[in-house]
Amino acid sequence: MRIGVDLGGTKIEVVAFLENGREIVRRRVETPRGDYDATLAAIVLLVLDVERTCARRGSVGVGIPGTISPATGLVKNANSTWLIGKPLADDLPRLLERPVRFANDANCFALSEATDGAAEGADVVFGVILGTGVGGGLVIDRQVVVGTNAIAGEWGHNPLPAPRDEERPGPPCYCGRRGCIETFLSGPALTADYDGVTSADAIARLASDGDRLAEEALARYEDRLARALASVINLLDPDVIVLGGGLSNVDRLYASVPARWAPHVFSDRVVTKLVRAKHGDSSGVRGAAWLWPE
Ligand SMILES: [Zn+2]
Repeated sequence: MRIGVDLGGTKIEVVAFLENGREIVRRRVETPRGDYDATLAAIVLLVLDVERTCARRGSVGVGIPGTISPATGLVKNANSTWLIGKPLADDLPRLLERPVRFANDANCFALSEATDGAAEGADVVFGVILGTGVGGGLVIDRQVVVGTNAIAGEWGHNPLPAPRDEERPGPPCYCGRRGCIETFLSGPALTADYDGVTSADAIARLASDGDRLAEEALARYEDRLARALASVINLLDPDVIVLGGGLSNVDRLYASVPARWAPHVFSDRVVTKLVRAKHGDSSGVRGAAWLWPE
């Protein structure tokens, strides 16, 4: 049995899967925000509860916001800031009395989709989360590529490629830079481009109803996403790019973005597939469970 834990900023979700990937038990609680010890206790309680229910012991993988720093062993880059600097990778294995594997939530997303999702069977998979933030994860041969700095795939804080004059220097980003991909491609970035009053879904609906400003905002978004993904294709040449997060529900991206990326890719043809995530919000727990493929 595999147990996946999705430690999110608002909820903690724990799911047990059989060896064939079938989900058998699911539990979720609100994350005790701001309280590290209570967060640890909540995870342990949920895992033990799931195991009691199944009358089995499982392997445990945990998807976290941010990552475990290879340099210090402590949590870094987490937007759930009360986790930053904490020895989660020491404490949880001790409390659960077993080894525990950890991965960034975007990496879990990519692993889930590469293992039994929209990119199943593909060798090189780049997973992109387009939500309140922009994250990325790289999976090669069904293995997460973490990287020596544990930032492989984190292209959201690269500068937007081939910026137009009006895109320079770009909006300030919380990371301290300007013009990061995230500041153009997050959900809030799209809605801000249309007076900041509506959702990405609503903008897509307005555009299909012929609203000119919504159409222009969406076209700008597609052009920027195409440039940002073209640089990924040049660097990694993935078989499949999977989109997740709220923006992945905008249907037209899957045709309009590949139609726009070819001029920015250094190749005579581009056969990379752009697909929507299969498992949606469950990708975090699924990918966390798949951190134990054996
Ligand atoms: Zn940034």
